[in-house]
Amino acid sequence: MPDYVKVMRDGEVAIITLDNPPVNAMSHHLREPLFAALKQARDDDAVKAVVIACAGRTFVSGADITEFNTPKALAEPSLRDLCALLDAFPKPTVAAIHGTAFGGGLELALSCHYRVAVKSAQIGLPEVKLGLLPGAGGTARLPRLTGPVEALKIVSSGNPVAADKAAKLGIVDEVTDGDLAEAAIAFARGKIGTPLAPVSGRSDRIADVDMAAFDAASAEVARKARGLDAPVKCAEAVRNAITMDFDAALKRERELFIELVQGTQSKAQRHLFFAQREAAKVEGVGKEIEARPVKRVGVIGAGTMGGGIAMSFVNGGIPVTLLEMNREALDRGLATIAKNYEISVSRGSMTTEAKDQRLAAFKPTTDYADLAECDLIIEAVYEEMGVKKEVFGKLETVAKPGAILATNTSYLDVNEIAASTARPRDVVGLHFFSPANVMKLLEIVRGNRTAPDVLATALALARKIGKVPVVVGVCHGFVGNRMLSSRSAENEDLLMEGADPAQIDKVFTDFGWPMGPFAMGDLAGLDIGWRNRKALGKTAPIADALCEQGRFGQKTGKGFYIYEEGSRAPKTDPEVSKLIEETARAKGVNRRAISDEEITERTLYPLINEGARILEEGIAARASDIDIVWTNGYGFPIGKGGPMFYADTVGVKTIVERLDHWHGKTGKEVYKPAALLRKIAEADGSFSASKKTG
Ligand code: NAD
Repeated sequence: MPDYVKVMRDGEVAIITLDNPPVNAMSHHLREPLFAALKQARDDDAVKAVVIACAGRTFVSGADITEFNTPKALAEPSLRDLCALLDAFPKPTVAAIHGTAFGGGLELALSCHYRVAVKSAQIGLPEVKLGLLPGAGGTARLPRLTGPVEALKIVSSGNPVAADKAAKLGIVDEVTDGDLAEAAIAFARGKIGTPLAPVSGRSDRIADVDMAAFDAASAEVARKARGLDAPVKCAEAVRNAITMDFDAALKRERELFIELVQGTQSKAQRHLFFAQREAAKVEGVGKEIEARPVKRVGVIGAGTMGGGIAMSFVNGGIPVTLLEMNREALDRGLATIAKNYEISVSRGSMTTEAKDQRLAAFKPTTDYADLAECDLIIEAVYEEMGVKKEVFGKLETVAKPGAILATNTSYLDVNEIAASTARPRDVVGLHFFSPANVMKLLEIVRGNRTAPDVLATALALARKIGKVPVVVGVCHGFVGNRMLSSRSAENEDLLMEGADPAQIDKVFTDFGWPMGPFAMGDLAGLDIGWRNRKALGKTAPIADALCEQGRFGQKTGKGFYIYEEGSRAPKTDPEVSKLIEETARAKGVNRRAISDEEITERTLYPLINEGARILEEGIAARASDIDIVWTNGYGFPIGKGGPMFYADTVGVKTIVERLDHWHGKTGKEVYKPAALLRKIAEADGSFSASKKTG
């Protein structure tokens, strides 16, 4: 059996080193020998102080997630047992932190009397990101070091804190530039014989609390949580650390943890955590496939998308050659990029030097020959097949052999674009989302001839620039936009049949979407969809009528709603209500009361249905990939886990019944249940259970 725990002595100091590669997770096979080693050190009179350190690249980085939902997670000694043992330790204990002390790792360190860290170390309690709270005393112990307001920030955001900041907050007692083990041993030795203040015994930082400040901070957490339970319970647990005695707060923390871990939201968030890892596994792109080196990226088109895509690469440390049709368009694009960075500087999230460095990483040009040095070239020009083919034709002559040629098209056939070149194996779709420098999702569109190492490169690059990649197949709109199209007509039909924009938008925001479709349309500009519909020969009677009146949304002060001067708050406009009624009358539609349930079913279930068709066709490899697309690119609430996970929570059988119902009533194709949905429903199954068989 490997030695997960080693004990060494340096004079009177015992050094307990944990070694559970790769990240020293708090697995049961680590907890058991650690518990024994601690007891031994406690009972050994020759030991006067203890250092807990880790081998490898990091301190304990958290719980062992593979133990989740298994008896091992609860097997004794639990992390709580370890923390309790440390809390009552009669000799000074020091956690020596390098890498990351996250979650259970930080809870272990917080149970020591002291913490010494290297400068590059980070601490944090990321449980909230899985819909949980720290369940081994983190919420009760941290406020005793930092005060409750700072603790609340750390617990409810889940964001990491660097060692220096942690020292300022009182979490870390010493930050060292030198050898960590030496520093920790010297620190421990210096504490031998001094009076001990175990973290749970300290109450100075929670005794005189500015309750009004804490209440305001908690209210802000609740507001930002937008329906997620975990951040709110995190705030409750931190409050308990101030208002209850230590043991009661600890007990209540456990109860809150159990409530969360058993709830649907945390299940959804954990599903998404694993789904993101799964999405990285792509058929035919094994570990043996090497990514091509990419040192410089070319971006063609400095419009809405090109500018954002270029910023994403520069932000990720890769210089960009940015090409436009003419100097004027180039200057416009560069000015927008500079403005975006200036906003970051004015918000304090970027220094002026960093901004200047980033701007220097753009090489603007109007000459295609300048793309010759690029290893990857992405076009983000107008959405027209003719224009795209012309650009790819030029690329073929200038791009170096082995350069990857990518398109950011939203809908067009990537195979057709690839076939127009002599190097279709080098062609791939890289579908970024707007604003591209902010949105995490990247649909990597695999053409039928895209080379495996092109996909491997795209996946590696996506991660390097902080995107969440999902490999999808070729079809109109790929995964996300194709599903979106399936429901877009339903919003307008519901208006005709009797709902109003505010009711529909409220159903969406109550569900957890950041915005409803009409408020969103007003924000994005209704003229975009109008132009698209005209080009495709499609109509949307109400939206078209609004646009004909020059109501393009927020930018004209009127759209589906009316906006007061300088305000972005949508207000119901009686004129729109009148227009909806008149349009319905002209079309011979008898308006009726529409229930919120009907709105949910008719806007969400077609989405799920289209998702099932996408799976049938193999456009997405797994249901969980679809969930990643929707939660990262379209604002689907993470607490609901994405459309396919949500379908499972409703029950696929129910979804099919309701689709049949609406199909019968409306005759619309979007409601006709996909064969895969029927198959799963007949087997009384679910998407998550059927993932292995596809
Ligand atoms: P845009 O009109 O804002 O920008 C297009 C830019 O390309 C313009 O600046 C134009 O001058 C330039 N351009 C056109 N032809 C060119 C050529 N031959 N050589 C060099 N530059 C040329 O458009 P956009 O919204 O950025 O969309 C670009 C692409 O991205 C489209 O394919 C679109 O479907 C796709 N896309 C858009 C979004 C979105 O939300 N806007 C999202 C995802 C993908």
